[in-house]
Amino acid sequence: MIKQELKLDRSWTLFLDRDGVLNKNRSDGGVKCVGDFVWEDGALESMRILNDLFGRIIVVTNQQAVSEGLITEAELNLIHQKMIKDVSDAGGKIDMVYYATNRKEENSIYRKPGIGMALKARKDFPEIRFKKSFMVGDTVNDMMFGKKLGMINALISNEYSNLTQQFGLVNYHFDSLKCFADFLKRICN
Ligand SMILES: [Mg+2]
Repeated sequence: MIKQELKLDRSWTLFLDRDGVLNKNRSDGGVKCVGDFVWEDGALESMRILNDLFGRIIVVTNQQAVSEGLITEAELNLIHQKMIKDVSDAGGKIDMVYYATNRKEENSIYRKPGIGMALKARKDFPEIRFKKSFMVGDTVNDMMFGKKLGMINALISNEYSNLTQQFGLVNYHFDSLKCFADFLKRICN
């Protein structure tokens, strides 16, 4: 694990993956309606903590199920509205949700590990600096996305990943978003 000296302030941005970080991954092929969206334990409390530490909080999520016809874009937007409201009710905030509906085979710049969603975010929020950003996700694609942009990567996974360690993709590794939030709170206070 590469330890970097962290001096967080509100000029920093947090990029968050959605599935497996905010809400529980589903074994039946993903979140297809609002009722399928189940928060990870401690995730809402984490969002409150992280809101105190970061100026911007951005969600970047691959949702190829839309292209596969498994869920409509309208339903996806309803899910995101509920997600944003739950976070707001818990004292946190999500500034924007970007999603890529492209299939993997399209090799779109928007689908992670492509960096299109981050470029869109920087266009919408010009104060964003990727070097002063964290990427938090649960897959290699998330870590590659963050690495390409020079972000600090935090992998959320309860298993040790050889692959991501080997390629130097992972700066920090936590069991959950709550562990990540608690860690940052501890070192920033
Ligand atoms: Mg994920």
